[in-house]
Amino acid sequence: MASVTLRNVVKRYYTLTESGQPVTGLNGVSLHIPDGETVSVVGPSGCGKSTLLKVIAGLEIPDEGQVLFNQTDVTTLPAQARGVGMVFQDYALYPAKEGEDNLSYYFEVRKRTEEEKAQRVREVAELMGIGFETLLERQVDTLSGGEKQRVGIARCIIRDPNVFLMDEPISNLDAKLRERTRIEIRRLVKKFGITTIYVTHDQQEAVFMGDRIAVMRAGVIEQFGTFDDLYYTPVNLFVATLIGTPPMAILPSTHHDGTLDLFGVSLTLPAALSASLPPGPLRLGVRPEGWVVDPQEGPALRLTVRHIERIYTERAAYASGEIDGHPVSVLLPLDFPETPHLAISPNWEQAYFFAAESEAALHTPGAPALF
Ligand code: ADP
Ligand code: MG
Repeated sequence: MASVTLRNVVKRYYTLTESGQPVTGLNGVSLHIPDGETVSVVGPSGCGKSTLLKVIAGLEIPDEGQVLFNQTDVTTLPAQARGVGMVFQDYALYPAKEGEDNLSYYFEVRKRTEEEKAQRVREVAELMGIGFETLLERQVDTLSGGEKQRVGIARCIIRDPNVFLMDEPISNLDAKLRERTRIEIRRLVKKFGITTIYVTHDQQEAVFMGDRIAVMRAGVIEQFGTFDDLYYTPVNLFVATLIGTPPMAILPSTHHDGTLDLFGVSLTLPAALSASLPPGPLRLGVRPEGWVVDPQEGPALRLTVRHIERIYTERAAYASGEIDGHPVSVLLPLDFPETPHLAISPNWEQAYFFAAESEAALHTPGAPALF
């Protein structure tokens, strides 16, 4: 088992492009993952997630920077020597073999004894839990997507990897199976206690899988932290709008002399908040739970309601609509009546502010104190 450290890793792809410039996969990535931790990597398609995993696995060699396992430099160590297990989107099982052969193939190649092989397969099957042994007797191409993924994971685990890498392992599955499989993977990863890096483009999946989450954009890690870090103290507008469903509303506004002007309405800011913000154009961010509905004091914004979605399992509802073309979601009690409009104003203790140009966070609420 190993900790994983990246120091200023740059990876360029020298393929023919119209501009003649190399394509940037990673543009200076530093990251430290302690032994045994599960980290999610999330970001839009093309941001460098797979490149990051390949550099850690040894399938790509960085142009600059270092990769370390347990503080030992492995930057140029070949993939086979790193003890890394990888699960991809497309399973990469040997299709004509039965599930069990897929597991024991590794031992055959390495000329281990029959007993050793059988023993290890049994151990892993036990670890994988109920129903797994029946999968082992079946031909791989008769397995469902979720079952293949379980065999794929088992095939990694049987090798006792130092580091476990998963690249969008369940994005090929349908929604229902995805949910079940991600619970299963999370359970297994926790049980194995192996350092795991889990790549996904889905923020909810990232939050579910990772103890901490690295948010990537255009070859760099924008922020690395716990869900609370990313949710309550995002470093910029990109992270703020990526994490959280429904997403944070972002509204253009102007700050001057203790007031915030937006959409022709002047809202009074608390003095301390106003003092911490520069004058001029700002972007106000408000999450669904950060609105006061029908405020008793002061002016309010007028939300045009398009739809109220009632989430019975959470005993809550979300009104979604817009203010002057800007999408806004508002958390409501489950039994809130249907309405075409809502009067809302921000709860300033839960408000976020971003620089209009750079989109850097200027003020965030921070994680709430629970006691
Ligand atoms: P992600 O996994 O987040 O979708 P990737 O790491 O696959 O992103 O890709 C990052 C960038 O590097 C993209 O612009 C992609 O087109 C480019 N890229 C990835 N692999 C190669 C390759 N083998 N040759 C050329 N460009 C590549
Ligand atoms: Mg990818």
